[in-house]
Amino acid sequence: MPRSANMDAPDLGPIDEYIPIPEEFWSFADDGPFQKCTVCNIPLLEEGKLYLIEKAFKNSEVVFEYAMCIDCHQNLRQDLSAQSLRLIDHYFDEHVDLVKRRQRLMESYDEDISPWLSECLVTGKALDQCNEYQIMTLCDGDDMLFTYIPCLLSGEAMESIQSLLSKKTKERLDGFVDDFLGLPPEAKIRTPYIG
Ligand SMILES: [Zn+2]
Repeated sequence: MPRSANMDAPDLGPIDEYIPIPEEFWSFADDGPFQKCTVCNIPLLEEGKLYLIEKAFKNSEVVFEYAMCIDCHQNLRQDLSAQSLRLIDHYFDEHVDLVKRRQRLMESYDEDISPWLSECLVTGKALDQCNEYQIMTLCDGDDMLFTYIPCLLSGEAMESIQSLLSKKTKERLDGFVDDFLGLPPEAKIRTPYIG
């Protein structure tokens, strides 16, 4: 059974709540589920293969998207400064109770992801009020898991997080964006999910 990847919240252990990857988390470029890790190209749609998906939107259009296997995610995290990671963990601790949020959403759980993406995780801003936002989730093969995510982060929340990052961390993340997301420079305002 899959295990959760946590944003500094208690390990959830095996996850019993999962659904086939919903279209919200399909690859816009591939017009279907992500097939491979954006970084290392390892195939993802095999049971037991854990990976994150993140998609960023601006004015209803996809700005960037990627799928990243857990190994690549851990490698990326290791390159970031300990101070930046501490500040990000602290930021989430201050602004959101992930355990309570999951409990609340699980009370009415019916395999529908829309309640999980209806508002910003941090600010509570409603999805339909967000011009810019990112959504992220954890998957196992061709299933999407309900852990502490899926979630949505508004542009405002991402800006707050960005302001916490050290120069070294920003440079490493810019490198990731340059190498794998192929964004124009003016779009480099969003930080990939690193929790
Ligand atoms: Zn990978």
